[in-house]
Parts: sequence; structure tokens; C-alpha cells
Amino acid sequence: MTAVNRDRLTRLFLELVRIDSLSRRERDVALRIQAEVESAGAICRYDSAGEKVRGNTGNLIARIPATAPGIAPFLLCAHMDTVTPGEGVKPIVDGAVIRTDGTTVLGGDDKSGCAVICEVLHQLHDGKMPHGPIDAVFTICEEIGLQGARNLDLTMIEAKSGLVFDSDSPGYLFVSGPSAVGMRFTVRGLEAHAGMAPERGMSAIKIAAEAIAAMRLGRIDDETTANLGVIQGGRAANIVPNEVVVRGEARSRCEAKLTAQVDHMVACFADAVARAQVTVDGVHFAATLEHSAHRSYGGMNVPQDAPLVRQVIEAARRSGRTIAPAGTGGGCDANILNQRGLVVANLGTGMRDIHTVREWLDVNDMVASAEVTLELIKLHAGG
Ligand SMILES: [Zn+2]
Repeated sequence: MTAVNRDRLTRLFLELVRIDSLSRRERDVALRIQAEVESAGAICRYDSAGEKVRGNTGNLIARIPATAPGIAPFLLCAHMDTVTPGEGVKPIVDGAVIRTDGTTVLGGDDKSGCAVICEVLHQLHDGKMPHGPIDAVFTICEEIGLQGARNLDLTMIEAKSGLVFDSDSPGYLFVSGPSAVGMRFTVRGLEAHAGMAPERGMSAIKIAAEAIAAMRLGRIDDETTANLGVIQGGRAANIVPNEVVVRGEARSRCEAKLTAQVDHMVACFADAVARAQVTVDGVHFAATLEHSAHRSYGGMNVPQDAPLVRQVIEAARRSGRTIAPAGTGGGCDANILNQRGLVVANLGTGMRDIHTVREWLDVNDMVASAEVTLELIKLHAGG
């Protein structure tokens, strides 16, 4: 088993989380990662994704040349951007656990993945282990709709298969993830004075509330979820509101269930709107609904018997660990890369309670992730 340099890994992680890198502003952290991987022998380039998303850098694409012939290229991928509140991160080290001071996220999502990849490249460089070409890709704008991966210049990458490091437990390899649909509903009622003539109005908020109360939301089943996350409408407490906008999403690893959930949500709004009518001075008014749905991203579905999955399980065994393939409810760069024809699974790095100011990480998990990856690269090289 290959032992990673735990101190170097921890030090780099702590350094990376202290560099602000909200989406579209990943340049500083990209330059730091570039220096790190160049010291491990990588050749770095940037694609033009940054211009397409109006960010300050493109995706960082680092190539590590093969040290042995005839081995297929392998992809290692993590994203550089973090969510808000993510500026001025002050990590607190408590034994093996690293947490935030409670004012920001930690950014272990996904600087842990970036640090793990850097450590793996150092080990390859230091250890003189025979391996094929490695494409290490550090993406931008994952957190704002997987924009870096969508715009990744695949002509700059040779690998057709590999790992994304962007989930919590290194005991799981996520091989399937949901497709997601974003939705927007605009309910229009009729404005009226709330005190003098409420019967001359129709409350768009009340109509939306009836629709929502009738709706199945949250966890629908083990592979389907739905959420309404934003509601906006009304002008003042003394006006019957004539418009409310509700935005939400549905996700499922099963396309038929996803379609059914979206249809159900639309039907709930349509039914509530159809019931809302009022006649004012002999004129009949009916509430209206405008809605749109768009696919946010497609699912990922790597077969459990794919060579990649079997090799990761075997690599874990060789490093004295167990990894089980699993499904996730989250979307990540792997969704896009699989949709774009690569075979990519998502390995955990130890990030926990992500997207909250309670985010923390256990260094032992980053170590496990790096060690399994090194065994995997060895296996991949026929070792
Ligand atoms: Zn992430």
C-alpha cells in the first residue's frame, strides 16, 4: 500500500481553503494549484471556459506524462469554486478534524478534492511509480450549475474515464446521480383593496398556497426528491396580491419518475388556479398560471460492473479499506462528464455538512481517498 504524505496534504488543504474562490473568481486558487502540480511535474494549460461564464479564469487542465507505455489515460477531477458565505475562511484544526469558525463554509467542497489530487500527483512524482498519462482537471463554476464542466474543452483531455472527488464519505463511490429539472410558476390573481373590497380580488398567494399544500415535496422515494425553494410576490399587507412567483426543482435517478413528479407539481398549480374565479361588476375574472420547466442537468449512470467501478473496489481492498458503489441525490461535474461521453464516478474525500457554516472534514478521510486513488492508478497500470 502506498502511504501518502499526510502533513503535506493537510498543509495544502489549509492553504487552499484560505484562498477565496467564489464561483467566477477562482483565479487565485487556480494559480496556487498550478504551482503545486507543476512542482509535481505537471504541464498546465487553461481552457476558454472562463470567458464563456464571465469568470476570471478557465478550467485548469494539468497533464502528467506517462512513465510507462501502453496505459490508457486517466482523469482526476475536482472543482475550485466554493459557495457563499465562503470568503475569509478561518479553518480551525482540532486533531484530525478541520472545521470553520462558524462564520463561513469551510470550502472542503471541493478544496479537499483539489488537495487529494495534488497529493496523488506528488506521490506519482516522488515514487517513480509506473503509470499512464494523467489528466488532472480543476474546474470552475461547479456550484452555479456545473458551468465549468459544461464548457470544459474536451479536446484538451485524452482520458475517457476517471474519478471526480466531490462527495462526503470515502467509503462510497457514487456511480449514479439524478437528472434535475428546474421549474418556475407564476400565479396571477386580481388586485384589490384588502380592507374595503377583498371580494373584488383574488389572492395569488392564497392560490399558490393551495397548490403547494396539495403537493408532494421533499423525499418522494429513494431516488426522487422535489423542492420549492423560492417564493416571491405581493406588494403590501393591505393589497390583495395579484402575482406570486414560485421556483423549485425535482430530481430523480429514474427519468419516468422525474417526469411524473414535474407533471404532478404543474397539475397542483393548474388545479388551484382553475378553482380561482371571481365576478366583479358583472365581469368574470379567472386566475392564470404561467409555468416553465428546464432540464438543469442529466443524470449519471455508470454500470456497477464497469471496469472503473471494479478497479476502485479492488484498489480499496488493497489499501485495507472497503468502498461500496452507491447512488446520490446530488449533481456534480461527473453528471456532465458522463453526459459528454466519459465514464466518471465520484469518490468521497471526507467533506461533511457542506454548504453550511458547520462544514467540517476529517483529514483521515482525505488520506483514505488519496491512498485508494494511488492504488487505483497502480491497478490501472497493470500493477
Ligand atoms: Zn462540490
